[in-house]
Amino acid sequence: MIRIDHHNHILLAEITEMVAAAKASEVREFSITEHVSQFGEPRMSVGFGSVHSSGRIFETLKEYRDEFRKVDDRAGLGMKVNQGLEVDFSPRYEKKVGDFVNQEEWDMLLCSVHEFEDGRDIEKGAGPVDPALANERWRDYLRLERMALESDFVPFTVLSHPVRLSRGTKTVPPELDELLLDLARIAQRRNRALELNGNDIDNAPGLVHRLATACSMAGCKVSLGSDAHHPRDVFRNMRVAMALVNEFNLETI
Ligand SMILES: [Zn+2]
Ligand SMILES: [Zn+2]
Repeated sequence: MIRIDHHNHILLAEITEMVAAAKASEVREFSITEHVSQFGEPRMSVGFGSVHSSGRIFETLKEYRDEFRKVDDRAGLGMKVNQGLEVDFSPRYEKKVGDFVNQEEWDMLLCSVHEFEDGRDIEKGAGPVDPALANERWRDYLRLERMALESDFVPFTVLSHPVRLSRGTKTVPPELDELLLDLARIAQRRNRALELNGNDIDNAPGLVHRLATACSMAGCKVSLGSDAHHPRDVFRNMRVAMALVNEFNLETI
């Protein structure tokens, strides 16, 4: 199995440092997928419910594209570097974000749900909550993820961190496995991959295992991504993800 990491950021580190870390981990295909909320125009006009409070803002798509020239075709790199984005999905700004992203073509588009429909950050409000409320949050979150998979607002191939809500609530609803299976079936039908995310493996390894089970049952593809924001996190937990791929005989992108 070739070593792949399809989810990485450059808002807090230089692209050269991230690529050097990937090379050190013998990664063969490496995707840089900056948040669409780190671009000046959508950051101003969209009002994202979840953003990084610090880190580089790219004023234009060209400024971002120029970063990749620093790591392009360097002799002996031995690695494909994909130019990508992590694109937030929310019904309230679906069209606006789509118009921004679709100005250009991309090697790798991830789609993420970072906020509820009313704009609340899914990672906020963590801590002890009423289990009934926690269950409702999971149902809301997975409903938005199903909507994202059904949407063609951008031509994305991966739904990233499908169980990220675990950072906002530790309780899960009794029917979680059915909800994950439903998500995986939609992904399979839509020919989109669900991500085995390095950050989620740190935070909720049991849930990522349940996600892999659902992917296996539905026959949907998976994508491997560390979600690194710093060089030290490049390829984070990807050995664990590769073990899940082998355990469940999953198809990767
Ligand atoms: Zn994300
Ligand atoms: Zn990310």
